[in-house]
Amino acid sequence: MSNPNLPKSVAVVGAGTMGNGIAQTFATCGVPTYMIDVQGEFVERGLATVHKSLGKFVEKGTLTSEAADRAKKLLVGTTDRKHLQEVDLCVEAVTENLEVKAALFREADALLPAHAILASNTSSISITVLAAKTRRADRVIGMHFMNPVPLMKLVEVIRGNDTSDATTESTLAWSRALGKVPVPANDYPGFVANRILMPMINEAAFALMEGVATREAIDEIMKLGMNHPMGPLTLADFIGLDVCVSILDVLKDGLGDDKYRACPLLRRLVAAGHLGRKTGRGFYDYAQAKR
Ligand code: NAD
Repeated sequence: MSNPNLPKSVAVVGAGTMGNGIAQTFATCGVPTYMIDVQGEFVERGLATVHKSLGKFVEKGTLTSEAADRAKKLLVGTTDRKHLQEVDLCVEAVTENLEVKAALFREADALLPAHAILASNTSSISITVLAAKTRRADRVIGMHFMNPVPLMKLVEVIRGNDTSDATTESTLAWSRALGKVPVPANDYPGFVANRILMPMINEAAFALMEGVATREAIDEIMKLGMNHPMGPLTLADFIGLDVCVSILDVLKDGLGDDKYRACPLLRRLVAAGHLGRKTGRGFYDYAQAKR
């Protein structure tokens, strides 16, 4: 049974952290979904992550094993971009790099049916710049899911300069039909989520660098004082310190304001290869915690 409020078929390009979560979300809602990456091993890794996540939902009792099996059948992992010719919606979730995304937008524009919407999950790259690589600027939009996608409700929906009302309405309706809460924003650097989050993380890094308090104290104060589920330094380690620096650079360049300059301590940790949880060390040491 297909859901009339959702696209008939979807392609998610990029099978990484976000791509596999987005693909899982569409497939769980009954949408035939292609998950496309550049190499078979990345596709396989993405599929394995989805299968594991579906298994956890079944264990928790929030998804039946029949529904999980149906989602697995609806999700096709592939390296063949030709499948873009078959879909109503393509959600791009490839590496956060303008050249990589621009090349993909040109290619997807050439392959997708004329009516299809091309959405980007970018955290910080301008939707207007990506749309200008295509001949369908009115059908290009930002669909900024949050990590982990199957659990997080928010989709920040970003209108580029030439995104049409019809594209925005479809994207909002599809996001709701996925069980998400879409919130519209306009295309300015960092949109809303990262425009506000990154300066907070950066200020926490400055506070640590200047010895205002220990990392634990900074996180505890923000957790208990502001009712945040985790402190800003812990959150930065989750996001990746390299990602934080690159988003701060986008904010500083795009808004032309030095107040967004990345804290030297953040840059130093990135230079040392301490990127957060993904490398076992960032503001905190995770390898040690495991031992
Ligand atoms: P990731 O590195 O986990 O995955 C990216 C995937 O894209 C990789 O599997 C890579 O092989 C693939 N890829 C690269 N070039 C490709 C191409 N030309 N065609 C097909 N596949 C290609 O990255 P991620 O964390 O999933 O981030 C993806 C996007 O989502 C980025 O734009 C990022 O800014 C955004 N985002 C990330 C988060 C997060 O918390 N990780 C949150 C919101 C948005």
